Amino acid sequence: MKVIESIKELREQVREWRKQGLSVGLVPTMGYLHEGHKSLIDRAVKENDRVVVSVFVNPMQFGVGEDLESYPRDMERDCQLCENAGADVVFHPQPEEMYTKNFSSFVDMNTLTKGLCGKTRPIHFRGVCTVVSKLFNIVTPDRAYFGEKDAQQLAVIRHMVEDLNFGIEIVGCPIIREEDGLAKSSRNTYLSAEERKAATVLNRSLQEAENLYKNGERDAEVLTGAIRSYLDKEPLAKIDYVELVDWNTLETVEKAEGSILIAIAVYIGKTRLIDNRIIAE
Ligand code: AMP
Repeated sequence: MKVIESIKELREQVREWRKQGLSVGLVPTMGYLHEGHKSLIDRAVKENDRVVVSVFVNPMQFGVGEDLESYPRDMERDCQLCENAGADVVFHPQPEEMYTKNFSSFVDMNTLTKGLCGKTRPIHFRGVCTVVSKLFNIVTPDRAYFGEKDAQQLAVIRHMVEDLNFGIEIVGCPIIREEDGLAKSSRNTYLSAEERKAATVLNRSLQEAENLYKNGERDAEVLTGAIRSYLDKEPLAKIDYVELVDWNTLETVEKAEGSILIAIAVYIGKTRLIDNRIIAE
């Protein structure tokens, strides 16, 4: 497995693969890889001849006061995980490689990025769309893999690929969880032992709503209300949002019908965690 830092070198590598008629899969990440990322890489390795994992903590998607500087990093461990999973290249550019001095172009979206996480993180998805577009142009993959853990991001990328005719298949992968149900996340390392225990409340509250749904409840207010009351019982939890939206448009709906996304963002202490359920009838 190669670690490549330069865009030029990666392009040459991909050109070489293309000459041999090989298909290419891309797994974009911010590193500090865990089983969630590994599930994406495993799938990419199964479905493509060659796999590129990008490890890049993208400054453009972090707002002022967010955790850009403290975001956990461990390249050595990440490379080991990628190699063991069968990736061919880890693309690890420095920020200056991705954003040259006079950088001034952005990819933005008017609709799907405004609600949910977009409310508290207004510039986040502009950063995500821009960096993912750049990665798509650099790697020109056949398929790119994204986790349902970041459900809004997955919906935004799907929409962007359609709007801008990238011609790349976007593959969504299920959420990988810890044994106690907490969705795996690089940010879980911020949690103290007490907070780590409290953090299981996110998945438990979603389970409560899913059970109600399975018993026939379709009223969005009742379902989100049940989640809120559940979360309110945990003293360390502070709700950012609890929303029930259409899974394709991310628009708020009154009834849980068709494909829906129940998405929540909750502060556990100072750490903001997200989780969700995608439910299709
Ligand atoms: P990140 O490094 O947090 O930007 O995540 C990179 C990719 O891994 C994104 O597509 C995430 O949705 C995905 N991912 C992160 N955590 C998980 C998880 N627990 N299960 C599945 N996918 C995940």
